[in-house]
Amino acid sequence: MKLAILSRGPKLYSTRRLREAAIQRGHKVKVFDTLKFGLYLRQGEPDLTYRGKHISDYDAIVPRIGNSVTFFGSAVVRQFEQMGVYCLNTADSILASRDKLSSMQALSRHDIGIAETAFVRNQNDILQGIQEMGGAPVVIKLLSGTQGVGVILAESNKVAEAIIETLSSVQQNVLVQKFVSESKGRDIRAFVVGDRVVAAMRRSAVGQEFRSNVHRGGRTEVVELDEAYERTAVRAAHILGLKVAGVDMLEGKDGPVIMEVNSSPGLEGIEGATGIDIAGEIVSFTEEQLKFGNMNVRER
Ligand code: ADP
Repeated sequence: MKLAILSRGPKLYSTRRLREAAIQRGHKVKVFDTLKFGLYLRQGEPDLTYRGKHISDYDAIVPRIGNSVTFFGSAVVRQFEQMGVYCLNTADSILASRDKLSSMQALSRHDIGIAETAFVRNQNDILQGIQEMGGAPVVIKLLSGTQGVGVILAESNKVAEAIIETLSSVQQNVLVQKFVSESKGRDIRAFVVGDRVVAAMRRSAVGQEFRSNVHRGGRTEVVELDEAYERTAVRAAHILGLKVAGVDMLEGKDGPVIMEVNSSPGLEGIEGATGIDIAGEIVSFTEEQLKFGNMNVRER
């Protein structure tokens, strides 16, 4: 097959690995810088250019759309969809998972564990939001944060109220979340490809830190997932329409609690921790999808 990888960084580990895996399986592959496309909308004839030139036909694209290019990146993916090119993750699924609030809204009507969350704007509603989460300690999150930035543990209702008021006053959207204390600074990253978890690891925060992000010094270890965690991860990805997803879950007292579903999960940490050829899994899955007529992953 002829495969296009959309990525801003050809030298990034994940991009390199996907390219290598495709070549190893005898495919033609090219990495495109997402921001260098031009989109052309004409009646019955959607088209795009790359660095000013029309591109040849591709069978499939693997989008790696970072947070900073969500809007343009998802428009490029949608354009490929309009041109009948198979997109491993669709524009809608990328957008559905990108923001913490809308993805949790989508998941909340299903029978899968999520952290109880409040989103309030009016000053009079802030204290109620905190109380409905069972009161302090609560976790406060900037809607736009990533890699643990803008995730704060507030130890008292007063402090929680002050933080939310301050952030709201500078036009920041904030979520209040029940603190899942039993997860003890650990979380699970399950890497979903199609309808399987192909690899999983546990990340643990170090010292007093409650955030387990690797960017914050979190340590990783391989973990054998219980069936409940596998099922939850795959279902969450499917509900959001993602074929490839990194699903982050806390280990709550009643089982998995979904934190976030990432549509362009990094390969470096998890391939390093588990030794699994995830890039190969992604390419083989794409092959299968093309062979069997782009079956959409269905909610079960
Ligand atoms: P980001 O998207 O910035 O990584 P997360 O929402 O995933 O933000 O939070 C970062 C980390 O903080 C999580 O991986 C987890 O370790 C910890 N954390 C976040 N929310 C909670 C919570 N409600 N209860 C306990 N720990 C949490």
